[in-house]
Amino acid sequence: MHTKLFIPGPVDVAEDVLQKMATPMIGHRSKDASALQRGISEKLRKVFNTGEEILLSTSSGTGLMEGAIRSCTAKRAAVFSVGAFGKRWYEMALFNNVPADLFEVEWGKAVTPEMVDEALATGKYDLVTLTHNETSTGIMNPVDEIAKVIKKYPEVVYCLDTVSSMGGTKIDVDALGVDICITSSQKALALPPGMAVCSFSQKAVERARTVPHRGLYFDLLSLYDYIQKKDYQYPSTPSLSHMFAMDYQLDKMLAEGLENRYRRHAECAQIVRDWAKKHFDIFTDERYLSNTLTVITNTRGISVADLNKELGRRGYQISNGYGSMKEKTFRIAHMAECTKADIEELLGTIEDILGLK
Ligand SMILES: *Cc1c(COP(=O)(O)O)cnc(C)c1O
Repeated sequence: MHTKLFIPGPVDVAEDVLQKMATPMIGHRSKDASALQRGISEKLRKVFNTGEEILLSTSSGTGLMEGAIRSCTAKRAAVFSVGAFGKRWYEMALFNNVPADLFEVEWGKAVTPEMVDEALATGKYDLVTLTHNETSTGIMNPVDEIAKVIKKYPEVVYCLDTVSSMGGTKIDVDALGVDICITSSQKALALPPGMAVCSFSQKAVERARTVPHRGLYFDLLSLYDYIQKKDYQYPSTPSLSHMFAMDYQLDKMLAEGLENRYRRHAECAQIVRDWAKKHFDIFTDERYLSNTLTVITNTRGISVADLNKELGRRGYQISNGYGSMKEKTFRIAHMAECTKADIEELLGTIEDILGLK
C-alpha cells in the first residue's frame, strides 16, 4: 500500500511524472540537452515571475542556499531567521568563512520590515537572506512590505528561500526585487528530491564577479556563465532524469493554470486551519499563515508519534513538530498535487483515530 504523504517534502509525485524519470538518457553536451534546459528555464520564469536567468542544480535546495551566500557576499550578510531553515543560512555563512550576523525572532512570529530597515541602515551589509515560507513554524513572511524596505538599499543582494512555497503560492520575484530566489524539486513543485533551481539577477552576477572565493560546484556564477557560453548547458553532469520529469511537470502546472494551482493550495490551507481551530490550535501568528503547510499546537496532549503510527497503518503520514517541538506541535502539509478531497480524507481519519467525531 502506498502511504499518502502530508509531510513538507518529499511530497507525492504523480505517476506520469514519475515515469518521466525513466526516460532514456541523452548526452549532456547534445543539442537536445540544451533544448531541455532552455525549455525548463523558460517555463520556470513564468512560475517565478522573472525575466532573469534560471540556474539548475543537481542537489537539494540547501546546495543553492550555500552557493548563494558564499558566491554573492562581498562585505557582510544579514541573515533574518524565523525558524530552523532561516538559521541554516547563518551556519552556511559560518562554515564558509562568510562574515554574517543573525537576526532572529521568536518561533511562530514573522520578520518585520522595521527589523530589516534597522539592520540595513547600519550600512554594514551587502547581502540579505530571508525565508519566504518557514517550514518549521508555518510562517509566511510579509515579503511585500519587506521588499519596500530592501529596495531602499540598492547595494544589497536579496536572497529568498522559497523552497516550501514556490509553485504553491504566487511569488512575484522581479516585483519583489529578489536577486536569488531558490526552490527545491520535492516540495510544492511536486517532483522527486534531487534537483534545485533558482533565479539569478544581473545584480547578483555583477556581485559574484567581485567575490574571489566562490567554491567550485556551487559557484552560482559558473552555472550562469556556462549557460551563456554553452547555450543552456550545465558545467558538470546534471540529473537528466530530473530534468525530463521537471520539463513535463512544468507543462502540467501551466496547463492547470498557476492561479488555479494557488487557489487550490489556499483552499486546502483554509480547511486545515478551520479544523485545527476546532480541535486544537494554530501555533503560528495568524497574520502570517503559510498556504502550503499548517503547524498545529498539540493542545490535547496527544502522542503525535502514536497518531502518526496509526495513520501509517491506514496509509497516511503527517509530520511531527520540528526539533524540540516534536510533540508540542504537529505539521500537516497541503502542497503540490494535494486536493481538498485528500485533505478531508486525512482529517476525517485523524478524527476517527482520536475519537473526535
Ligand atoms: C526543505 C527546506 C529547505 C531545505 O531544502 P532541501 O531541498 O532539503 O535541501 C530549506 N528551506 C525550507 C524553507 C525548506 O522547507
